[in-house]
Amino acid sequence: MVFATSLECRECARTYDLGPRYFCEWCFGPLEVTYDYEGIAEVVTRESIEEGPPSLWRYAELLPVSRSETADLGAGLTPLIKADRLAEELGLTDLWIKNDSLNPTNSFKDRPVTVALSKAVEFGFKTVACASTGNLANAVAAHAARAGLHSYVFVPYDIEPAKIVAAATLGNVVEVEGNYDEVNRLCVELHDTYEWGFANINLRPYYAEGSKTIAFETAEQLGWKLPDHVIVPVASGALLTKVKKGFDELVQVGLVPEDRPVRISGAQAEGCSPVAVAFESGAEDIRPQKPDTIAKSLAIGDPADGYYALRAVRESGGAVAAVTDEEIISAIRLLARTEGIFTEPAGGVTIATLVKLASQGIVDPSELVVAYVTGHGLKTPEVVDSRAVARIPANVAGFQEALGEKE
Ligand SMILES: *Cc1c(COP(=O)(O)O)cnc(C)c1O
Ligand SMILES: [Zn+2]
Repeated sequence: MVFATSLECRECARTYDLGPRYFCEWCFGPLEVTYDYEGIAEVVTRESIEEGPPSLWRYAELLPVSRSETADLGAGLTPLIKADRLAEELGLTDLWIKNDSLNPTNSFKDRPVTVALSKAVEFGFKTVACASTGNLANAVAAHAARAGLHSYVFVPYDIEPAKIVAAATLGNVVEVEGNYDEVNRLCVELHDTYEWGFANINLRPYYAEGSKTIAFETAEQLGWKLPDHVIVPVASGALLTKVKKGFDELVQVGLVPEDRPVRISGAQAEGCSPVAVAFESGAEDIRPQKPDTIAKSLAIGDPADGYYALRAVRESGGAVAAVTDEEIISAIRLLARTEGIFTEPAGGVTIATLVKLASQGIVDPSELVVAYVTGHGLKTPEVVDSRAVARIPANVAGFQEALGEKE
């Protein structure tokens, strides 16, 4: 059963039917899916969710489309692991990592995309498309193939080779001579010309809703309890904005008790930090930047939801910080060494930001903290460029000669 009721303008609150549209015709504000929360509260219980599928579709009632078998590759329900070794290094006591790199195409983007393409199937689109910094391209190409849809994914020409390989095997990659913001502008123009479903344009209100499920799962996996503080990487700001909506909805439908707001902190790379800069200067509005960072999945200089992400952070009592490329790389190594998780630079941004906020006392040692690691390291092997410790002949003496004295 679908409990979504309308699309509502975030600015002027005018409402629209649940069609393939994304901005208010009156004031150009972004549109947000609204729900019948009383209806949801009547049918959804912790038990009904736990009996659901082992994927984000266990939260179907809180999503704007019913589960489509066709556009489902099993996204969601990724591991939430207690990170004691990392916690100890940072002086924290209750730290958890949500490892969203274990989604079907190895990034959190499978969450919004399975929802967007289920909606695309419902709308009857035959072709889907997106502007992407890489991970979204993989997710769209894979879910389109699964759903029997044609796809075009548009990416900046200089994204990491390993991100292209997967997407190009799954669908049609188009490299564009420009950065993400230029690719996105091109897609907005294509959207006027072609009757396609664009994940982050005319499907955006539905797409973005999929990101709420990372918050739902966090609470469920903690035993139906809200964390004190979460660290969320910020590109367009949609994930962070929806993490807040997700926690708020759990309270609203009575799945977790209301006690205090979850503190939400944002993580950015210094080379693309428009939200962090606005946070630190106390500004209300985001000033666009030209990205220059190894964290290419987060390299959106003019973030569509930046303003709302900033507001969500401030309302929740969190912070936004930016970290250097060196800090990102050492955080990738720190997470690998302490917890056995190999992440791409976006995960490095999250962990480096956690390191920074913990050292500044903004993340408190007494808090239950969850850090969202959103993409897999195998997509960006060039970033760490790690090598074997030795090359040896195939005999014991060879090993002992090279490394034996270290044992
Ligand atoms: C897209 C992406 C994000 C953040 O996405 P938003 O645009 O802010 O919703 C975070 N991590 C990874 C790995 C991503 O690909
Ligand atoms: Zn409006």
